[in-house]
Amino acid sequence: MADASAPTPMMAQYLSLKREAGDCLLFYRMGDFFELFFDDAKRASAVLDIALTSRGEHDGAPVPMCGVPVHSAESYLARLIRAGCRVAIAEQVESPEEAKKRGGSKALVRRDIVRFVTAGTLTEEALLEPRRANLLVAACELRGTCGIAACDISTGRMELEECDPGSLDATLARFAASEVVAPEGWDAAPPDAISRPARDFASDEGEARLKSVHGVATLDGFGDFSRPMLAAAGGLIAYLDHVGRGSLPLLLPPEMRGSDSVLAMDQATRASLEIIEAQGGGRQGSLLAEVDRCVTGAGARQLAEDLATPLANRAAIGRRHDLVHFFHADPLLRADLREVLRGLPDIGRALGRVVAGRGSPRDLGQLRDGLAEARRIGDYLQPRGDKPDLLSELLPRLGGHGALTDLLSRALVAAPPTERGSGGFIAEGYDAALDELRAVSGNARRAIAAMEARYRDDTGIAALKIKHNGVLGYFIEVPARHADKLMTPESGFTHRQTMANAVRFNSLQLHEEAGRIAEAGAHALAAEDAHFEELVGEVVNAREKIAATAAALARLDVAAGQAERAAEGGWCRPEILDDPCLEIEGGRHPVVEAALARAGERFVANDCRLASEDRLWLIGGPNMGGKSTFLRQNALIVLLGQAGGFVPAASARIGLVDRLFSRVGASDNLARGRSTFMVEMVETAAILAQASERSFVILDEVGRGTSTYDGLALAWAVAEAIHEVNRCRCLFATHYHELSRLADSCPSLSLHHVRAKEWKGELVLLHELAEGAADRSYGLAVARLAGVPREVVARAKAVLEKLEKGRAETGGLAAGLGELPLFAAAAEAEEEQCDALRDRLHGLDVDALSPREALDLLYELKREAGEA
Ligand code: ADP
Repeated sequence: MADASAPTPMMAQYLSLKREAGDCLLFYRMGDFFELFFDDAKRASAVLDIALTSRGEHDGAPVPMCGVPVHSAESYLARLIRAGCRVAIAEQVESPEEAKKRGGSKALVRRDIVRFVTAGTLTEEALLEPRRANLLVAACELRGTCGIAACDISTGRMELEECDPGSLDATLARFAASEVVAPEGWDAAPPDAISRPARDFASDEGEARLKSVHGVATLDGFGDFSRPMLAAAGGLIAYLDHVGRGSLPLLLPPEMRGSDSVLAMDQATRASLEIIEAQGGGRQGSLLAEVDRCVTGAGARQLAEDLATPLANRAAIGRRHDLVHFFHADPLLRADLREVLRGLPDIGRALGRVVAGRGSPRDLGQLRDGLAEARRIGDYLQPRGDKPDLLSELLPRLGGHGALTDLLSRALVAAPPTERGSGGFIAEGYDAALDELRAVSGNARRAIAAMEARYRDDTGIAALKIKHNGVLGYFIEVPARHADKLMTPESGFTHRQTMANAVRFNSLQLHEEAGRIAEAGAHALAAEDAHFEELVGEVVNAREKIAATAAALARLDVAAGQAERAAEGGWCRPEILDDPCLEIEGGRHPVVEAALARAGERFVANDCRLASEDRLWLIGGPNMGGKSTFLRQNALIVLLGQAGGFVPAASARIGLVDRLFSRVGASDNLARGRSTFMVEMVETAAILAQASERSFVILDEVGRGTSTYDGLALAWAVAEAIHEVNRCRCLFATHYHELSRLADSCPSLSLHHVRAKEWKGELVLLHELAEGAADRSYGLAVARLAGVPREVVARAKAVLEKLEKGRAETGGLAAGLGELPLFAAAAEAEEEQCDALRDRLHGLDVDALSPREALDLLYELKREAGEA
């Protein structure tokens, strides 16, 4: 009996592969299935909702198992990846016959991990979202500077940059990567990063790898990359090398992005502005969804990148605006262009698959069609007068593929198949020898048809047929009752198989013709395969030019789409200036406006007018009055404008913004269940630390996450600090109307409110911004509007009256706030005052006081406390 504890040879092989796979699920190929075992099986069966069975025993316990069919593995992979798994694919790397030859009849087929499938390293069309980039990011730190390498291997684009460790989170947030890798043992590594050996992140190694990938002796032609950037590039390429088992995907020359050339936004700002995703997750309700009128997946990906990475360089922004304006001014041209773009295949991703060695004949067909169309677009736009600079720069990238498209057109059939293995994709007339082989099998097929007719005549069996199946190949079949005639040796037929109702035969002639077909077929397949490799080679050689064409098409699609969106919504071209102003006339919030329009309601446009001498607007007014909407619409207008698009306003003058911050008071986020006030304060601290005179900040009800007094005090101090220290442009919404007293001490702060009026006892919100402080608080009216019962509102009114009366008598909540020393000293002074009072009370011998002394002392203490 076998030792129960010794693993079977198969299990031993499995376990060794599993060790190599690490924390990836191991897909272990067995015949037509990929099988998963142990915990992998449990996890996969739960994610995929497939049956968990077991197979044999290991260490005395049954081995959990589940499996997916190889032919539909892609859809299962997609679900696993979406659920956050990574998968290692172990294929059989020899046939059972080879195994037998090598190790006898019981030999185990050799298996190897041929590929790792991970979220950041996908190229398959079925696993990727067409309108969304798929980024892999490597990050590391070298002597106090972080290096970042980001790459979308579905299109090969690669970007290198560096940042301070302090802004690593914000920089990573911009990429919204599917997968992040970082060196093992780096304590600042992002929490969900995959650890890779630290030696992969050596800068000289990175430099060497980049040089070898691009076949260059120096990287100077690509950019002046810093050591941290090269280290990150090294980590990235080493990881790609690892998951591809030594074969690298498409990598284009790295681009360098200086952090001062983009509008900085941290993760909290991105989330709160709902740029790419809405708060609940998903694209719906996001700015991107509302702006996106791109007709190609590549355009949509470029737009998402533009919105995630608005520019901070006037000239570059202006070039994009010029291009949008060009298409905006000519609706016919725009419509024509979009019509052609709409039918365009995604050549960037087709290229990615081809270069990664996972391309199909269909991908080559897509490249042929896409490149030909790109050239037509170029020819169409070329003769236009007054071309903006950006267009003149893009046009040459659309053409120049004549030789390649000619070759692909001649070589490929009109609609090449997705399967490479069964041939049939090389066009007739491309290769005479291949045509010859095809003629041979065509002739043989015709000969077999003629043979069938002849055999029927010769034997007199009208039901005789020549058939084909996968097991027997070609054979002659007659109904059983006629079989005897053919059984004799002199009939010329040899018996092959007897079925219930029919008997099958072979003949010498049939055998010969069938042999011809098989041989010609095999040769034809080999010829097509060789042509495929040649064509792939040509595409690989032209990869950089093809990628440039794909990028140019995407840029055209984005610009035409922005123009379309602007025309649809009456948006305007913003003017970008250097002085720190923000003058928006008739501004609107694109997402809220669209939602209202769907409900048949109208959005009320509002103006914003910030300038260095009036840079902080304090905005009061009732809840639901439109404060948040106003704040965000102005932030979004800045973002859209600096991303190079038109903006939802009648006119817009935007002083270039270096950093954009958006914060919402904690109570709006309560549902998230974090320590929300803490989060609110951490985020506020970041603004106070980072906002410069060129920044734009929106603060929505900051201080709301704590008690009234704390909250008011904090809001007060934050507003003051922004006014005095940061000196940035800021819109500050608050329901504390005590804050309006800030206007007395802050000359560059002004008061505004969203208008509301009571009409026949009901509150009417006008969503209109007006100057001056809100005349009163509308909390009770809003409660009424929200359906709080009349009796409760009436009772609240009575309580409020009492409170307000009490407040008037004692000096109350905000009395004296206006005379507070400036923010920095304020808290300290208050603290000191309290301590002094406490000390005096402490040192007091009450019993020793005369009634008269006690009374005097009380008056004195009260006077002191009143000043606090
Ligand atoms: P607040 O921040 O003052 O509580 P919001 O900005 O959240 O108010 O606005 C509340 C609702 O009022 C929005 O969901 C929207 O339906 C409506 N609203 C806001 N601004 C406008 C506007 N300018 N025009 C029309 N409706 C608006």
